[in-house]
Amino acid sequence: MCRHLAYLGPPAPLSRLLFDPPHSLAHQSWAPRDMRGGGTINADGFGIGWYSGVGAAPVRYRRATPLWSDTTLPGLAPSVMAGAVLAAVRSATVGMPVVETAAAPFSDGRWLFSHNGVVTGWPDSVAKLAATLPTADLLMLDAPTDSAFLWALVRDRLRRGDGLAAVVADVMAAAPGSRLNLLLTDGATIFATTAGHALSVRHGDGQVLVASEPLDDDPAWRPVPDRSLVTATPDAIASEPIELGEA
Ligand code: GLN
Repeated sequence: MCRHLAYLGPPAPLSRLLFDPPHSLAHQSWAPRDMRGGGTINADGFGIGWYSGVGAAPVRYRRATPLWSDTTLPGLAPSVMAGAVLAAVRSATVGMPVVETAAAPFSDGRWLFSHNGVVTGWPDSVAKLAATLPTADLLMLDAPTDSAFLWALVRDRLRRGDGLAAVVADVMAAAPGSRLNLLLTDGATIFATTAGHALSVRHGDGQVLVASEPLDDDPAWRPVPDRSLVTATPDAIASEPIELGEA
């Protein structure tokens, strides 16, 4: 299952997340440690979103090929500085297309979003939930995948003032057994859920990292319990349980 991460803190080169650490995102693309729920490697695309300036919408770079096979990025990443980043490597769920637009991060305005997991019974299980979305949002889905649909749902709930926990509860009620590790940022705050997959956080020194798997053996990494909502800024981090009806 896909691996994702988000960073907030002092501007740092993208290479510090993607390539430099012993268990960088590139390393996790071909040697992930915890692929519970299916898949062996994350070879079906990748994406990086980062904020290049105050008030600016994020920049995205996505590909439908493995992160390790990109010959441009290792040279580019050390010279791209960002104080807010969300990046992901993808292991496509069986039956879902391997296309660039299915790779996270999904984006709208200041938001960047990623999903690690699967919606069980896709697409029938969530057809009724999909019917609650504006038709234009459904017509403009990035790709016919569960993750792109989840992004449409999250975006709609954000407009209504709801957050990730409400989306996890609604989808879990419609599609029990789904794996819904969601990751969202506006460049100032990271929101993350755990529902069926691992997640770890490292907080301190004015920076925060949220990642499917720790990037190194720094003892400051902390695992997040399953069924949690994490809200993190460089200054503070909070975790609360997500109440699920079918638990
Ligand atoms: N189901 C999603 C996809 O196919 C995410 C898969 C994953 O987490 N491995 O894109």
